[in-house]
Amino acid sequence: MATLTPAQLELASSLTQDELPTKLRCAICSKLAVNAFRLPCCETAICENCQATLPSSCPVCEHTPVSGADCTVYKSLRTTIRVFLKTEEKKTRGYTT
Ligand SMILES: [Zn+2]
Ligand SMILES: [Zn+2]
Repeated sequence: MATLTPAQLELASSLTQDELPTKLRCAICSKLAVNAFRLPCCETAICENCQATLPSSCPVCEHTPVSGADCTVYKSLRTTIRVFLKTEEKKTRGYTT
């Protein structure tokens, strides 16, 4: 499956929380859930950074133990976010990808 372009990643980090639909946000850091994973305990979406640095208890539901390795790839959300970023690119920067 296609990955995000550097331009899209840059755009993702430049968006403010107000510009991000709640369902596209990471439950831990509240940024866009780039390369989203789903927590095994509460099925919540998190970004790849938070998946990589997940503590041994879930920051969302406090389930323990939990590990980044148990998180599953959140394919549908990744697709949604890619579409979202493409739309934002057109809207804000006129990038062509
Ligand atoms: Zn995060
Ligand atoms: Zn949880």
